Amino acid sequence: NSTTLFCELCQKRAYLECTGCHVTFYCDEDHQQADWVGIHERICQLLIPIRTQTLSQTGRSEILYKKLITICKSEAERKIAEGKHQEALPAAQFFLRCSTDVNGPSAVQLVPAYLLLAEANTGLGDLVSAMEFLSQAEWVVLKSPDCGHEILHRLHRSQGRLHTALGYLESARKHFANDIYHASEEYGADSIISCEGYFLLASVFVKEGKMPVVRSLYSQIAQTWHSHLTKLLKSHVENVQNPDQVEVDKTLTAILEFVQCDVIADLAQVVLVAHSLSMLWFLRGDSVKVSSVTEVVKSGQRSQRVTLKTFVLKHTALILLLLAYFYGFIYL
Ligand SMILES: [Zn+2]
Ligand SMILES: [Zn+2]
Repeated sequence: NSTTLFCELCQKRAYLECTGCHVTFYCDEDHQQADWVGIHERICQLLIPIRTQTLSQTGRSEILYKKLITICKSEAERKIAEGKHQEALPAAQFFLRCSTDVNGPSAVQLVPAYLLLAEANTGLGDLVSAMEFLSQAEWVVLKSPDCGHEILHRLHRSQGRLHTALGYLESARKHFANDIYHASEEYGADSIISCEGYFLLASVFVKEGKMPVVRSLYSQIAQTWHSHLTKLLKSHVENVQNPDQVEVDKTLTAILEFVQCDVIADLAQVVLVAHSLSMLWFLRGDSVKVSSVTEVVKSGQRSQRVTLKTFVLKHTALILLLLAYFYGFIYL
């Protein structure tokens, strides 16, 4: 044919055709397989009307693009949350392509796609590519003065993550502080989204060995999660409907490990965090994990009681003396 075909993934010359849609092409079987697992399986049939241009009304193409964008975005987010960074790339790339087709090359709507691409590359250890995508996102944001807090919070969070990975701890801290500011403006200071920002900031302080700051941040995070989960439990929500639920697990488990090994033993804090984890796993219906952490809660509460008992035993003489004094005082 006179038209040269290009690979869906790498834009090199293509020799294979998808037998499902006949409108998508690949340079080799590896790229076909990677795209199929990554996103194509979900969107194969949706591409036919878009690429054969059989759409009768322009309105229909808008609806189709919206559908494609939603699918690619959620697929990339899910795969990143599950730690499948390589598989997330085709979905994130196609998300960027569709957003560019719909909104143009410098629209603020492209930022979420750039951030997902940066996050997937950070996960893969390709920090150079991650940096490129983040600077493209930053450039778009700079050109959009009316950019909202939500986008700014997400941009600073991604930049903070990258700078942490690069070991630029001071600028990582600045980005996370900005992330927390914008997240608090958008969702409130006590929201679990701002809370995740506090956890990321704390992780920088852990690297710097500033334990008093870590301790106070962790205590604030534990408190926020505890009241959030208590509310969820009260409203009988069956599942924790939060896209970051893998992160919550990591956050609370890291804090539990920290407070259990901390030189300043804070049993009340151990019980609070373990109780939060037991509520989280209960809400997810994971009874095995619940029973494992319930033991921690119970033994913590036991030792809290034991602490009270030993206090009473140690100070029996003093208490008796006080009682005697009071009785004596009354009788006088
Ligand atoms: Zn290719
Ligand atoms: Zn196909």
